[in-house]
Amino acid sequence: MANSGTNTYIDKYSVLFLRVTRLAGLLIPFVAVAYGIASATAIVGRSPIFNHTGFVVLSVLFIGLGILQTILKASTPFNLGIYLVFYHLFATLYFVVGPGFLSPIAFCWILLAFITEIFYGKIGGIISLGCVTMTAVIIYVAEPHKTFQISFEYGVYLSIIIVSCVLVVLLRRVQLVEHQDLMLTQIEEKFQREQLTALINSVGMAIASTSNTGTIRIYNPALLELLDTTDYLTGKQLDEVFHLYDPNGNPTSLQEILAESDLLVERDDLSHQFTNGERMNLSISFAPIQGSRTATTQSPDGYIFIVRDVTKAKSLEEERKEFISVVSHELRTPLAIVEGAISLLQYQVDTKKDPERYAAMLKSAHEQVIYLASMVQELSTLSRVERGASDAVETINSTMLLNDLYHRYLKRATSRGLQLILELPPEVENVVCSRLYLEEILQNFITNAIKYTDFGAITIAAVNQGDTVEFSVMDTGIGISKSDQKRIFDKFYRSEDYLTRKTSGTGLGLYVVHKLARKLGVNIVVESELKQGSKFSFVLHKIPADHTFGL
Ligand code: ADP
Repeated sequence: MANSGTNTYIDKYSVLFLRVTRLAGLLIPFVAVAYGIASATAIVGRSPIFNHTGFVVLSVLFIGLGILQTILKASTPFNLGIYLVFYHLFATLYFVVGPGFLSPIAFCWILLAFITEIFYGKIGGIISLGCVTMTAVIIYVAEPHKTFQISFEYGVYLSIIIVSCVLVVLLRRVQLVEHQDLMLTQIEEKFQREQLTALINSVGMAIASTSNTGTIRIYNPALLELLDTTDYLTGKQLDEVFHLYDPNGNPTSLQEILAESDLLVERDDLSHQFTNGERMNLSISFAPIQGSRTATTQSPDGYIFIVRDVTKAKSLEEERKEFISVVSHELRTPLAIVEGAISLLQYQVDTKKDPERYAAMLKSAHEQVIYLASMVQELSTLSRVERGASDAVETINSTMLLNDLYHRYLKRATSRGLQLILELPPEVENVVCSRLYLEEILQNFITNAIKYTDFGAITIAAVNQGDTVEFSVMDTGIGISKSDQKRIFDKFYRSEDYLTRKTSGTGLGLYVVHKLARKLGVNIVVESELKQGSKFSFVLHKIPADHTFGL
């Protein structure tokens, strides 16, 4: 990767250099011929072996070469080499039959030697400088009066050309090395940037970087997903993208929060409002980027953001807090009754007063203890569900399960004068799910049916329905009003109806059922009419549907 980058650089550089070279190759013959005319007309000095005809022919050829190399661009090193050979030949002849070596135009040879060195390396440069030395020697030899001054001038001219050419070549090499280093650094940076981008894109958390004024520069797909948008966010202001509200429900500006802080900040009390009005609780961490450019100044270069949706965590936390407060409240009353009944009983036993009330007090304490025990039972089931302790699935024989339940509850139903019916067609399909969850749901329905039915029958049934099996528990009990049907799955909810209140209950049974149903991925259907009875049912796939066992 690094090599290809360097080549690209050299190629670009070469193309540019070729263009400049071509321009020089066109202009210099014109300048040289103009100077040559001045020398031919004796305005400036001329060669000791000046030849009028030769100079005219050479001028035409020299200009012709300039135009030719502009039109027929050298596309290969060989073509370029041919042009350079002709330039050297014409230049040599030009000085010999034209203005001579002691003319300022001789310094143009620096350019010729420099170009030759670039395309043909050190050897090319040496040959070119050898050529100019030879030209100087030929013309010097032809000088009729070799005075010290003339010899000195030849020496100085030649030295300036050679030294200048060497210096220019060295300077160019230094500059080339610097450019190559720069290119390598840029390639390295680009590679690192690409790696970083790939890393950020693969991270599940929403990440963005902004300028110090809050303009989004880079972001990852997780941010688009979080904000439920496909918009192009680069260049947008943070406040255009995030519509934030503080814990009091007042709109707040992320840019203002940024402006007020220059250290790492974490806020998890802000919420974002979607266009449809829905709110999402966010946890936003942002850290300033202090680049070298601004290391000495106060304000950072920009900010890095990490944004997370904490709506679920928040609502779970709130639900948990509310649950603990309700449970402690619900436990207080029965515990107070038990404690009151037992201490009164103790007092009366001690003082041997009203022995006939002992039984009533014991009954009341016993009932409350039963109530507490059932609540603890429901709470422990709930905790198992939430921990996913019984998520493991197994194949359950529906017929055997319902038979077992029927026999388990037959005595309880009969003791209340109720008929317990098991409706099972001959070949009910097996289902695959968590045994504990399925049993717990059906048990809740059956105990409720027995509890809320004063006369009549309770029917436990299972029936094949295509790819599914429908399980149901039906009673002929007190029924549930339409408004209560909407609330019976809420935690601790019990109907206000006196028929319900005359039975004891925690209001947790159907809440647990609701959680279990979600775990199983099933939907509980309630059909009920006051004083007519109720039916609770749900369907399970014979082969489990593709659902996850997560709450
Ligand atoms: P609990 O039975 O302990 O009160 P549940 O959560 O099991 O609590 O039931 C919630 C409420 O739903 C009950 O208080 C009752 O009002 C109503 N309910 C549940 N099942 C029946 C049913 N089969 N018939 C009439 N009402 C019912």
